[in-house]
Amino acid sequence: MGYIKVRKANCKNCYKCLKNCISKAIMYKNEKVEIIEDRCILCGKCITACPQGAKKIDNDVSIIKEYIEDPNIKVAISVAPSFVSVFKESRKNLVWALKQLGFDYVEETAVGAKYVTREYLHLLEKGEMENIISSACPSVNMYIEKYYPKLTKYIAPVMSPALVHGKMLKEKYGKDTKVVFLGSCLSMLKEVNESEYVDNMITFNQLTQWFIQERITPAEGEEMPFDVPSSYSRIYPIVDGIVYDIRHISGKTQGTDKIGGYDLVSASGLQNVQRLLDEVQKGNIKKAFLEVFSCYGGCVHGPFKVSHGSTSYRARIEVKDYADRANDTADEYVGDISATFTPKPVIEDMPTEEQIRDILSQIGKNSKAQELNCGSCGYATCRDKAIAVYQGKADLYICMPYMTDINQALSSVTLDLTPNYIIAVDNNMVIKEFNRAAQKLFGVTRLQALNKPLSNFINPVDFQQVIANQSNIYNKKVSYTEYGIITEQTIVYSEEKNMAIAIINDITREEEMKKAVHRRKLDSVEMAQKVIDKQMVVAQQIASLLGETTAETKVTLNKLKDLIDSEVD
Ligand code: SF4
Ligand code: SF4
Ligand code: SF4
Repeated sequence: MGYIKVRKANCKNCYKCLKNCISKAIMYKNEKVEIIEDRCILCGKCITACPQGAKKIDNDVSIIKEYIEDPNIKVAISVAPSFVSVFKESRKNLVWALKQLGFDYVEETAVGAKYVTREYLHLLEKGEMENIISSACPSVNMYIEKYYPKLTKYIAPVMSPALVHGKMLKEKYGKDTKVVFLGSCLSMLKEVNESEYVDNMITFNQLTQWFIQERITPAEGEEMPFDVPSSYSRIYPIVDGIVYDIRHISGKTQGTDKIGGYDLVSASGLQNVQRLLDEVQKGNIKKAFLEVFSCYGGCVHGPFKVSHGSTSYRARIEVKDYADRANDTADEYVGDISATFTPKPVIEDMPTEEQIRDILSQIGKNSKAQELNCGSCGYATCRDKAIAVYQGKADLYICMPYMTDINQALSSVTLDLTPNYIIAVDNNMVIKEFNRAAQKLFGVTRLQALNKPLSNFINPVDFQQVIANQSNIYNKKVSYTEYGIITEQTIVYSEEKNMAIAIINDITREEEMKKAVHRRKLDSVEMAQKVIDKQMVVAQQIASLLGETTAETKVTLNKLKDLIDSEVD
């Protein structure tokens, strides 16, 4: 099932989403973007990176509204701790606002997070695992299962805080109670969909929209506490949050203390997580607890946070401050919160070295030096791009250096071969392009013409007018008597470069031909006049005999003369 919608009409094929996608789960074919579900880890980076807003979460919240409207259904909402940096001053009124919408029970996900931490601590104290990777971020779990399958055994076999809390809510309020998770995470949507403990999810953005639709302004509401108090586990959404919570519960608050012989290490942002996992895979990291977040800075910077101007540092301080003010709660829950993670390696058909070389050579890369690895196609290296082409995920010719070369070659061929004079000048009337035909006409080389004033060659008045008015002149006839040519010139304004570009068509030959035709017509008129005159003389001599017939001849010849006259005019 897809969780990301692509609005194809909005996409401008800039490849920014592909560049930001660590698992290269985006396919470009025939100028269309598609998500490759099997590769996607739902990190949401492609959504936040898209400058056109061409991607959005595919999550219909109308079903949540339906639950609420049904008087036979009770609805509980589990609020992720990042809410403190989203709702800021109005956070104390959030419970009131959610109850206004119709939620029956409002609790914090931190209530469940506490038991996740407790399990992590048990695993650390048992000391049986070579390394332990936190399981709280579904994106990272998927990343490991798909791209580091051998490390799956290190993921702590514990449910995420949202699922644990969902399970607790269902057990407390009845299994028919609908549980909704409120957060900023895309991958949680998949986890929720596949779980029996949480029924739906709503993002902070979607909730904010809902408040607006219902004309509910949390800031104007009443302060109301959550239905049950949460503990220090509110610290979860920031980097080091899980580590802090483990230390808090274990009582070992010193930053460097090992727990159960494990070092506690944090990494956030997929690039950093990737580097850390590479080290683990190489065997360079042993006996470590790895707290990992797909989002840089932690869940507090999830893809669907609502930013009210909080910087990552500010949001971190806000969450930390909120956690510091929590009181410890009694340890009550004893249910099973174990989870299983299984390797799901992405298996794809790989090209041979010969096939890679063949693809690269089709885009002008016949040697290592020609593989620029510029990344503008979205792939880190030319080889990666060639492999994606082989696998049908990328268009062969989407390669900036290659397309630029082709464009340059095409434009220089066009400039060289056209019989028209092409001259481009900047706003100071300095020549910036001077094609081969122009060089021939003016008897100078391109280098001799470039960066010289246009006035050295022709009157620049039309070019000045085009730049001043930022409007084009089409097919204007201009004679350059000093060069013995008559031209028809079109001068266009280039807004991007603030230049005037002229395409000057030499029409001297056509003009000479027109003159020759004109001359021939004048000769014909003259001849017709002579015939008429001659006829008139003859007519006068035999007027009595042929009077009427001669008059008819005169009329006919005059018609012929008029006709020629009109054409000459
Ligand atoms: S980021 Fe991706 S989806 Fe957005 S416009 Fe660019 S190519 Fe299209
Ligand atoms: S959600 Fe993440 S993994 Fe999936 S396509 Fe977008 S950037 Fe790639
Ligand atoms: S040279 Fe082309 S194929 Fe290679 S990385 Fe750059 S844009 Fe991609």
